[in-house]
Amino acid sequence: MAQSDSQNTTGSPEPIETRLFINGEFQPSSDGKTFDSINPFTREPVAQVSQATEEDVNKAVAAAKAAFPAWRDLSPADRGAYLHRLAALIRKAIPEFARLESLSTGKPVSRYIDGNAAAESFSYFAEAGWTVQGTSSLNTPGHFNMTVKQPYGVVACIIPWNVPMAFFAFKAAPALAAGNTGCPQEQREGTFDTGFPPGVINVVSGFGTPTGSALASHMDVRCLSFTGSSFTGQKIQTAAAASNMKVVHMELGGKSPALIFDDADLKTCMANSRIYVQETVAEKFLALFKDKYGAATLGNPLEPGTSHGPQVDGMQYERVKSYLAIGEKDGKLSMGGDGDDGYFIKPTVFQDVPEDSRLVKEEVFGPVVVINTFKREEEAIEKANASELGLYASVFTKDLDRAVRTSKLLEAGTVGVNCTSPSTAKDMPFGGYKMSGIGREGFMHSLDSFLETKTILIKMSS
Ligand code: NAD
Repeated sequence: MAQSDSQNTTGSPEPIETRLFINGEFQPSSDGKTFDSINPFTREPVAQVSQATEEDVNKAVAAAKAAFPAWRDLSPADRGAYLHRLAALIRKAIPEFARLESLSTGKPVSRYIDGNAAAESFSYFAEAGWTVQGTSSLNTPGHFNMTVKQPYGVVACIIPWNVPMAFFAFKAAPALAAGNTGCPQEQREGTFDTGFPPGVINVVSGFGTPTGSALASHMDVRCLSFTGSSFTGQKIQTAAAASNMKVVHMELGGKSPALIFDDADLKTCMANSRIYVQETVAEKFLALFKDKYGAATLGNPLEPGTSHGPQVDGMQYERVKSYLAIGEKDGKLSMGGDGDDGYFIKPTVFQDVPEDSRLVKEEVFGPVVVINTFKREEEAIEKANASELGLYASVFTKDLDRAVRTSKLLEAGTVGVNCTSPSTAKDMPFGGYKMSGIGREGFMHSLDSFLETKTILIKMSS
């Protein structure tokens, strides 16, 4: 962690850095404004984080633009050396990142896998730059033609609050390896001295307005990678179209269904936000599910025994509570509810909620599961697909034919057979159908999404 003069009460051995990082220097925002990062467990401020203005964004983008030609022209190995160094720095600081994320988001330290995932991403992309290659063709008479893959230039990455460190890495590492320079926007603390040439990475913390929207409509940002809600995704796409038609990649919200058939191993079925269970096994499944899902240990996320922390802030807590109220009106609360203690929501299950209820239709993004039943396979598919969101769907069955048939029909970017979120594969594409996203992330897929393809036509004289 670098030194900072900003006030914080995180209990870190050194003061933590909460200023913006622009052109290789930590600096306060141009108007000196900060926002409080609140510990959702104690509900006390833990740090004051600089809040970037439009002027700061302009400065960061200008620095990234100036740094681009030299960064682009380095060999993959030379760029990779910086990424390896950052991976090592992250690895060394994992316990500290776990503590800081717990303090600022309520994520239990016992569940912290993000630091490793981030370091692994930088290590992987430190080597992956060599794989960037085009194609060639002799198919046009009198020509030798080829394609080359080139970086966009300045890339902006905007991430949500729930997995800040890992999402920063999943976007920044491939963008940098591909030769782009960048401008990640973060909502919470998490900056550190990267040792990159000035301007290659700039970090501007802040809120949607003005920080995020300034990036989305910036004329010099050529590509924007976003993870967050579908609602914000729409605003970013509109701003991108209205400014310079920058390329946008979006990982958005989900309302992930899991279909539990009567031949499934019920003990292995885990939580999604919508569960459809075949009527014949519904009672048995519900008892097993409630045992497992309800076994969470609520408490201080800094305690190693805690598996379930508070909601990230008062706004998110109130949002989830509003969905609890809808569930109680429209369906049957069969477990959990408001924790009645700070920002805690207990693992919550609603049953028999009508398919047109907002609780079934909209993303809650909290520990709330709806369990409904079905009789026939076609009915299950129809219910699962009756959503504008399509991030992840799961099928639990021992029948291989049914697994293949339903995987084909489910409208989701990822289908888990006998597994569910957060199961993913690092080298497989991840992204959403419908309003859950545009584009895919995942090792080679991420690298490709930060590259333009150019066709070069060479006419031969003989
Ligand atoms: P959010 O959409 O409110 O905010 C995400 C980011 O966008 C924040 O950094 C915010 O400052 C910024 N932002 C807000 N308005 C903006 C604007 N007008 N222009 C540019 N940037 C703007 O989401 P959140 O509450 O931080 O995170 C939760 C959401 O993220 C959920 O919907 C969840 O499903 C989604 N998410 C998706 C994935 C995935 O892989 N598909 C993973 C994690 C989270």
